[in-house]
Amino acid sequence: MRRYIIGKQEDPYLHCTICGAEVLLREPEVINERADWVALCRKRARARSAIVPSAEVEATDFKKHVFGWMHLYRAILDEPATSRVYLSGIDHGSLIDWYPGPVPTDPDRARLSGFVRNESRWNVDFHMVNLFEPDRNREAGRRIGFPAHPHCWLLVDRVIGFAKVLPNLRAYTQAVMAFWPANEGDWGPPTQHLPGTDSCFEQGVFGRREDVTPHFNTEDEAENYFYRLDTKGMRDEELWHALGSPLRTPDIQELMQVATRSRPRTEKVVSQLPVELALMIVDLIYRGRPLCQERIDDTRSILEAFQWTLPDSYWKKRCEPELVYEVGDLEASGKPVDWAVFCLGLEELMVDPHWFCVSGLRFRQRILRVLKGIKERFEEIVARNESG
Ligand SMILES: [Zn+2]
Repeated sequence: MRRYIIGKQEDPYLHCTICGAEVLLREPEVINERADWVALCRKRARARSAIVPSAEVEATDFKKHVFGWMHLYRAILDEPATSRVYLSGIDHGSLIDWYPGPVPTDPDRARLSGFVRNESRWNVDFHMVNLFEPDRNREAGRRIGFPAHPHCWLLVDRVIGFAKVLPNLRAYTQAVMAFWPANEGDWGPPTQHLPGTDSCFEQGVFGRREDVTPHFNTEDEAENYFYRLDTKGMRDEELWHALGSPLRTPDIQELMQVATRSRPRTEKVVSQLPVELALMIVDLIYRGRPLCQERIDDTRSILEAFQWTLPDSYWKKRCEPELVYEVGDLEASGKPVDWAVFCLGLEELMVDPHWFCVSGLRFRQRILRVLKGIKERFEEIVARNESG
């Protein structure tokens, strides 16, 4: 089928229907994350597309370009002609003449580069769903797409579960359509923002940080934190927060390794103190002052000096496990975990006031809230369908 530009210009701009943020336009830097991607794209430069398995994109941590995850998307496609609802493959956010090209049909294929103009066996065209106005494309019986960043899509599995969602994709799209018009204020969050705006210093139980100005010792340090092609010559207050992937945070992954590393057993000094009392003292340090490096250092020293081992449940609770679901992942791994190391390590990351935002954790918090709303509606719809 030939594609026609006219009629598509009225489609809403591509947004992720989970986090509500834009799908960013493709930038060549995104593939620099992996040497094998660079090589593949170079080899396939003259071909239409460079394709990798979707699982590769899902498993990639974007460390060089922390916001790389925002440049990619897949879509749930609602096809009125066949009344099928299905998941597409992954594509990058390129637009030509304001509209996205056809996406890979196979959910296991991800296009890293190249742009397809016409539909084919391998690629299917769609119109971005209109969540806030009457959807003319839907009324005209055209194929509608619900885009989602691949990493956001995996959070659907975390919150609702693919086992429930995949057999009920239509109910899922209905839940999305019910959720967003009632929560329009959450739609379209900025993909980058100035530090301190967009309530980005709110860190949940980890505290609210006030009056922070960015300060970095080197340009490299700043580059890692901020979306800025050229940080040189920028004044501190002009640097922008870029958002890391809400799905996986490399710093937390590293911390998980550290907390599960087997340690040489030291000769235990038998503590004379009942555990309740040790707990009280450690908690007193915790509540006595807001999060800072000294509080963490004091806690570590006292644990070390008296060889106290506090109950795992205490440390886990301190980590806000609903948000930091890596706590559950560690539990499920069956590995022995030093929970004091994990908890204090996490708090140490939080000492940097920018970290909560740029790590992607703040964005994760937002997405979990959205998905809770979608889940409620989804379960209602599924229950109604089953009883009807
Ligand atoms: Zn998203």
